[in-house]
Amino acid sequence: MNYCSHCGSARLVQKVPEGDNLPRIVCEDCHTIHYQNPKIITGCLPTWEDKILLCKRAIEPRYGLWTLPAGFMENNETVEQAAVRETWEEAKATLSPLSLYVVFSLPHISQVYMMFRAKLREPTFAPGTESLEVRLFSQDEIPWEQLAFFTIRRTLTLFFQDCQTGQFPVHVGDIIPPASPPPPHS
Ligand SMILES: [Zn+2]
Repeated sequence: MNYCSHCGSARLVQKVPEGDNLPRIVCEDCHTIHYQNPKIITGCLPTWEDKILLCKRAIEPRYGLWTLPAGFMENNETVEQAAVRETWEEAKATLSPLSLYVVFSLPHISQVYMMFRAKLREPTFAPGTESLEVRLFSQDEIPWEQLAFFTIRRTLTLFFQDCQTGQFPVHVGDIIPPASPPPPHS
């Protein structure tokens, strides 16, 4: 941030506001505190009979890899609306009612990832502008080596485990990447 989004001043400083305990970007002219908070990514695990709908990404990052339809929530929408919207934008698919399925915290990149299970209303879908291809996969067709994100892999793994019992509880967890290896000895 180079300019205050409230008054346009360039006099922005990093400091801990009175009564706070973390450094924030503060405008020295209008005294607005510009909080930065985690972003929510939401989407769906759409199913048709025993198959799952995946989208092949037409955008970076991870161009050409497969993902579940998901994206950043917009302001002024509910998390369910965001998940339905992303599924329509990326896969031109419409959904039956949604069931919350996973909530993952990704503290290293300040994101929260929320995915819903939902049946397709009908087996019709097509790639949206962010997808190269959209298709249904049975469990043994899932392109595990070509999934775009670890969150997608974890979501699908949980889903297939739960398919064995027929119980689909909400899974809440953290995704923290392994620590980077220590630097080599010189
Ligand atoms: Zn300002």
